[in-house]
Amino acid sequence: MTGSDNTVVDYQVSGNVATITMKSGPVNALSQAVRVGLQDGVNQALSDDSVNAIVITSALPLFSGGADISEFKGGNLSPALPEVLNTIEQATKPVIAVLPGPAFGGGLEVALSCHHRITVKGNKVGLPEVNLGILPGAGGTQRLPRLTDAATALGMIVSGKPQPVTSLKGVFDVISDSAEDLSGDVSDYLASLTPENGIKRTCDIQIELDDTTKTVFEQTRAQVAKTAKGFFAPEKCIDCVYAAYTQPFEKGLETERELFMQCMNTPQARAQQHFFFAERAAGHVTDFDKSTPERDINKVAVIGAGTMGGGIAMNFANAGIPVTMLELKEEALEKGLALIRRNYENSAKKGKLTAQDVEDRMALLTGTTSYADLSDADLVIEAVFEKMEVKKTVFQALDEVCKPGAILASNTSTLDINEIATATSRPSDVIGLHFFSPANVMKLLEVVKTDDTAPEVIKSCMKMAKRIRKVAVLVGVCFGFVGNRMIEPYGREANRLLLEGASPEQVDKVMTDFGMPMGPFTMGDMAGLDIGYYVRQSRQEHIAHDPTYGAVANRLVEQGRVGLKCGKGVYLYEEGSRKPVPDPQVLKIASEEAERLGVTQRDDISDEEVLVRCMYTLINEGARILEEGIAAKPSDIDVIYVYGYGFPVYRGGPMKFADELGVKTLHDKLCEYRDKLGEYGQTWLQPSKLVTELAGKNGKFSDLQKKG
Ligand code: NAD
Repeated sequence: MTGSDNTVVDYQVSGNVATITMKSGPVNALSQAVRVGLQDGVNQALSDDSVNAIVITSALPLFSGGADISEFKGGNLSPALPEVLNTIEQATKPVIAVLPGPAFGGGLEVALSCHHRITVKGNKVGLPEVNLGILPGAGGTQRLPRLTDAATALGMIVSGKPQPVTSLKGVFDVISDSAEDLSGDVSDYLASLTPENGIKRTCDIQIELDDTTKTVFEQTRAQVAKTAKGFFAPEKCIDCVYAAYTQPFEKGLETERELFMQCMNTPQARAQQHFFFAERAAGHVTDFDKSTPERDINKVAVIGAGTMGGGIAMNFANAGIPVTMLELKEEALEKGLALIRRNYENSAKKGKLTAQDVEDRMALLTGTTSYADLSDADLVIEAVFEKMEVKKTVFQALDEVCKPGAILASNTSTLDINEIATATSRPSDVIGLHFFSPANVMKLLEVVKTDDTAPEVIKSCMKMAKRIRKVAVLVGVCFGFVGNRMIEPYGREANRLLLEGASPEQVDKVMTDFGMPMGPFTMGDMAGLDIGYYVRQSRQEHIAHDPTYGAVANRLVEQGRVGLKCGKGVYLYEEGSRKPVPDPQVLKIASEEAERLGVTQRDDISDEEVLVRCMYTLINEGARILEEGIAAKPSDIDVIYVYGYGFPVYRGGPMKFADELGVKTLHDKLCEYRDKLGEYGQTWLQPSKLVTELAGKNGKFSDLQKKG
């Protein structure tokens, strides 16, 4: 046996077979060193007369995670992946890719450029580039369609979702039954190769655009137009696959290259790549380090089995963690548990769970009305009514029964957790865990540290979030924390615009055109207008100086129009329907209120004004949150908005959107409308200190990220 080693790619010759093994942990990213290793390995094997076949494989459980995304911003680091893949494909000896585990993006493109592919049942592969606003740029869009059918190739490239290898007709030559069989199957396959079937270049396969294929393209285009509005890359992915059918291979590669560059230069790609890093950066916090101890969380308790409590409990049961739910009354407990069962049974009906899964998860949930049953809980999450006295009573009771070291968390949306913590003798164990509704579905978790929360409590909660598959963002205490605090000016301006003469439909449409899943009025109706009403009641000291604040919404609630749940709010809803129907009566209420409050209604409210007043003020509040250190970095706010509020990921989040727009433009537009709106503008549309400062030096929010 002969061999060489470049630390990330191993080269060994055994018998007549050269094996090139990637071993660049953690995921065999195709860094420059790996590319060099692959290319050198193939060249070495080609120049060695004793070698008659080449195997490319991995020493890790996965084949390769794809491009080294940290190289995205760098210059040209030779050899580029397409060049390496060309060397592999043009090899004059058979090249076999052996995939012990997943291959993604460039990793799969390596395999597609080999002459044969062998993997194992249960494995998955994918081309996720579209999620970064780009497309597979190393021949994936040209080679995959040549191996499989159009529907499979398009499905994979356009959705970016990993697929089971067994579902990819034509891509793999051998799929071993188990990992143990893999090496024997590879040996048998190598032995079966003949001079006639040994070299099978993907680029040489001819494919034709027949009528069935044309229909697949039409359907995919129609689907993308509907579901990927605002994204740039999905359509280009389709164009590339189309090129595979209509252009010679080399020309198709050029088309892929050209469209790849087009994608790369879009704000969408910048936003989606920003978001990819933002999500990972959310986990990097300076409040603890490797040496900070962690607390085990193996038993959880949830106080309150209502809307949030039930959803929160489900997250833990889904992760196999037992939960005790506490309510004051037996019937509330039964109602809560029955609702959870119904949720699980609905999932089972949709085929997402088996009947056994439902029973297993329900078996992890127990109910109690006695605090004594919480004495062995490692983590308690309170989700009772949003009233300070109630919360304090609960925390006092928890303080009495919970074991030392138990983490005591509140799911409050708006209350001061520092104050809640004073009800206990152990404020360093108290933290906020702000789940979003529906809590079993929404991925976001705001982890709220108080002035006293211990670093190990923060660390344990951030780790726990991963176990229950949430994206956790650490924030500080203030009214509404990050997400709901920023939504306040957004809702305030939407309501004021209504008072000034805009229609709910106009405001909602501007925001859905921007990319929000629904406008502020539809969102308000869904959440229940009474919620905002009570929040305004509790914040009189901050808003009473402006009698126009939420005026129309207040009148609606007072007339019993609390939203979807009663069939009427800002919109009307037909029985059983969630479709908002405009109601002229609401415009009448708005005009009466305007008259009563001395606000002149206008008919010149432009879509730009709606966008500036709702969205730019939301971002302005985000800037204040950064000034105050409530969020540690701008990208954390972006993660909160994409995962908590459906902010379009192709805009990267509100702070990234502002950077693309230019903070100076944001500032100048806020000033323009501040000045136009007289006293109201002076009160509510002042650019924050940070926005003014960044605008003054043509800076970006991302500048803060680099520093911090
Ligand atoms: P809910 O009214 O649906 O549920 C509250 C539950 O707590 C009820 O079942 C009630 O019986 C129980 N309860 C009340 N006092 C109790 C006590 N002293 N001991 C034990 N149980 C008690 O309310 P919800 O929407 O689930 O909200 C709960 C908390 O979650 C609130 O603090 C709210 O601000 C917060 N929150 C709500 C949402 C949301 O969208 N609904 C989102 C995030 C956070």
